[in-house]
Amino acid sequence: MEELLKKTEPVKLESAAELRKTMDGYFTRLREAAETRNRKVAWCTSVGPAELLYSMGFEVYFPENHGAMLGAAKNADKYIPSAVAHGYSPDICSYLTSDIGAFLQNETPLQKSGFKSVPAPDILVYNTNQCREVADWFGFYAKHFNVPILGIHTPLSIPELSPEIIKSVSEQYKNLIPGIEQVAGVKFDMDRFREAVGLSHDGCALWRQVLEKAKQIPSPINFFDSAIHMGPIVVMRGTTYAVDYYKILLAELDKRIKENISAVPGEKYRIYWDGMPLWYKLSSMAKLFAKLETCVVASTYCNSWVFDDLDPSDPFESSALAYCKLFIVRSDEVKETVLENLLGEFSADGIIFHESKTCARNSNNRYGLQNRLFKKTGISYLEINGDLNDPRCFSEEQSIIAIETFVEQLAGKSGK
Ligand code: SF4
Repeated sequence: MEELLKKTEPVKLESAAELRKTMDGYFTRLREAAETRNRKVAWCTSVGPAELLYSMGFEVYFPENHGAMLGAAKNADKYIPSAVAHGYSPDICSYLTSDIGAFLQNETPLQKSGFKSVPAPDILVYNTNQCREVADWFGFYAKHFNVPILGIHTPLSIPELSPEIIKSVSEQYKNLIPGIEQVAGVKFDMDRFREAVGLSHDGCALWRQVLEKAKQIPSPINFFDSAIHMGPIVVMRGTTYAVDYYKILLAELDKRIKENISAVPGEKYRIYWDGMPLWYKLSSMAKLFAKLETCVVASTYCNSWVFDDLDPSDPFESSALAYCKLFIVRSDEVKETVLENLLGEFSADGIIFHESKTCARNSNNRYGLQNRLFKKTGISYLEINGDLNDPRCFSEEQSIIAIETFVEQLAGKSGK
């Protein structure tokens, strides 16, 4: 193993400076809207109808992005107890519990960017395609701020995307409009919606290209980069800002490929990461894998924001299709096929399943999928117990040993 643990660091992307500018711009617009009330603020789930909200002139705030910021700042365990004291179980979504806990403590990492608190919503809009928790989460704030809450209820574990499902979700999109118009104070404009859907499509298509650059051997980007650089596609989907940023990132990755610069120097092994990131350990995990000369080349999580079925010529139906096609909404059979294909496309030597204690819907190793996938592909897997935000659920030492041993086994298997 010592031989494997070389003093290798992941190579930083130069686009990080541009990413910071793009994200700073987003937060500045949001802060100005919250302070001056020159624009209305809508809260939206991360895979919710952002295009509709942007097209109707809102600044859009995403509590999950805020949850990830709390996790990355390693503060979630400070806040979760306040939410628990408020009646939320420590076993439910730690984005929810850390976000509500921070709110109850009147703290937010946004205070560093000049916010007094999180931007007060004029309306909250969710889609349950990812989980039911978001409805409860948004319900807390709707009650607190006494503002309208609207939602799309998507069926879960979808095996086949039937016309009935698409029609039902598409109708639910349309049914949101009168409620949003009332808060926005403007009429829905089909051309502006088409424009936002088109921009979202373009941003997602670029994001897909960014992720697919990791098919290259060695890969110019890894999962830990992508988890950071996905910010614009999560919060600015449907705007030019995301499109502009991903053109810059893509150009850097092309340059890296041309110059044979890999994200992990001396890349020998390639891993697929299933499940949520460990936000509070992102950088130490990136370093650990780099030392093991292992690139985490692809992930279910980052792939989740590839909504390139969006089509401005048919914005409602295509939104329904794109947001129902999402990995997390699909049955285990569909997920198995998607993973099987991705393992092949990204030339993965192994797969790590992160079983996130507080996010059942993003933990895909609970019903035997990992065994079935192994039988089909022969690709080794490792299961890690942890959590997206709550560090108390993660045993770092034990996981590091497991990862090192796993890579050692891959080394033995491949003879590399
Ligand atoms: S998908 Fe998981 S992490 Fe995301 S909001 Fe739902 S429960 Fe929380």
